[in-house]
Amino acid sequence: MRIEWQDGGSGPTEPGTIYCIGRNYAEHAAELGNAVPTEPVVFLKSRAALRPLAGGPLAYPAETFHHEAEIVLVIGRAVALGDEPGWDAVAGLALGLDLTRREVQNQLKTQGLPWTTAKSFAGAAVLGPAVAKTRFPDLAHITFDFAVGGVTKQTGDTRLMLFPVPVIVAHLARSHALEPGDLIYTGTPAGVGPLARGDAFALRFTQLGAHWSGRL
Ligand code: MG
Repeated sequence: MRIEWQDGGSGPTEPGTIYCIGRNYAEHAAELGNAVPTEPVVFLKSRAALRPLAGGPLAYPAETFHHEAEIVLVIGRAVALGDEPGWDAVAGLALGLDLTRREVQNQLKTQGLPWTTAKSFAGAAVLGPAVAKTRFPDLAHITFDFAVGGVTKQTGDTRLMLFPVPVIVAHLARSHALEPGDLIYTGTPAGVGPLARGDAFALRFTQLGAHWSGRL
């Protein structure tokens, strides 16, 4: 899929590497019984896992997943290894779902194995349209929420991130040069729970009134 830009915003349309940050909100780490990390927890999803928020039927043969509603950064320019560009590297922000097969992840965690099959599969990286960074009144304070069937399940506030955006970008750039179109799922706030095939959901940047609906 291509990265779609909202309201005249512009930036890369070809998705690159999909980086994901785990346990970036203390209350979410606690709800899954995980310790609060001392540096960002990083994992990857395949580009083949991308699915538009308003996308069609889910091809992956499972019936339920866990929703993790997250802010997704769209990298707008190349970042050299070791650079610390902060928000300058970010062209825009989207909302998305880091869909997770939690029972598979729990099993893999118990066995000390990589999470990949729990986190990366067709449709596991749900991505809404990107909004230009300049639309946000205060980049240090962005709020969002996620609802299933009209009931709010997760509310997020970037002031509660354990590792704010500039720290995440610098941390990733310590091990990888970043490219325009790279996507960074920044972690989910508390309130994760089941999302079943056919469920209607909505994601919203609350301060912008920007709102997108989808169905799994
Ligand atoms: Mg996540």
